[in-house]
Amino acid sequence: MKIGIFNNETSESQRVTKLLRDEIERAGLEYDDDQPEVVITIGGDGTLLSAFHHYIDSLDRVRFVGIHTGHLGFYTDWRNFEIDDLVDSLVQDSGQSVSYPLLDMHAVYSDGSVENFVALNESTVRNITKTMVCDVYINNQLFENFRGDGLCISTPTGSTAYNKSVGGAIMDPTSIGFQLAEMASLNNRVFRTLGSPIIFGSDAKLMLRLRDDNDHVITCDREQMRQKNEKGDRHLVEVTYQVSDKRISFAQYRHNNFWNRVKDSFIGGAK
Ligand code: NAP
Ligand code: MN
Repeated sequence: MKIGIFNNETSESQRVTKLLRDEIERAGLEYDDDQPEVVITIGGDGTLLSAFHHYIDSLDRVRFVGIHTGHLGFYTDWRNFEIDDLVDSLVQDSGQSVSYPLLDMHAVYSDGSVENFVALNESTVRNITKTMVCDVYINNQLFENFRGDGLCISTPTGSTAYNKSVGGAIMDPTSIGFQLAEMASLNNRVFRTLGSPIIFGSDAKLMLRLRDDNDHVITCDREQMRQKNEKGDRHLVEVTYQVSDKRISFAQYRHNNFWNRVKDSFIGGAK
């Protein structure tokens, strides 16, 4: 089995990377960053996000494993002192996996150019200086006129990240759909939005049509999309979101309880 390693640059991650590479070699497993079947990330959830985008064209044959070298992560459930156990699991691997839904985003710009992205956590559309004004369409029908800081569109596994900070609900990661959460919407007698998050099912199509051509920021996970073309005059016109045909797979060597992780991360010592 071919194994790739994707690590961040902290000294602890580099130490664990070296240790893991030695153990992989000792166990007779093949190290291959180009065509891996299992990608082991070492760092945090952010490191796994980067690895996901690095291997985005190989999602149908790659399974991920996350080792965290900082605090407990949501995509990273192995600890830095469990390398021996992990290598044993790799040696005994029988292809066991669990997969989760992703979010397709299709952006259209004022110069007619289009871009497609796949998000593991979320996409946000924001205006950092002025009020963002956009029309929200659900399944091609106008739903509301949004005014505020921006909107966050999250996957089920991304729901514990940015989505949670802006008041979105945590979604069971086995559910198939995506979530829309508002960021500081203006609500008064003139401007009105729903004011609560929406969880969409597997077939929903969400479109945001920007009403102004101000400085929007559109993000996909860790990345901000390029807003300008070579002439510097491109702006976002509309963006459409749907559940992706692609999924992310993890090598599931042991059962981990998602709700225990939510409790450990956000609540702590409930008795
Ligand atoms: P970061 O600033 O290090 O990430 C912020 C925090 O979100 C980190 O503690 C990160 O964990 C955690 N995180 C990432 N994905 C998560 C998930 N699915 N569930 C729960 N927590 C998660 O930046 P980053 O490491 O590049 O991660 C990018 C993500 O940060 C974005 O996708 C977005 O979700 C999130 N973010 C959140 C806010 C906010 O809450 N106000 C603002 C911007 C971005 P690690 O420390 O393990 O990496
Ligand atoms: Mn991070």
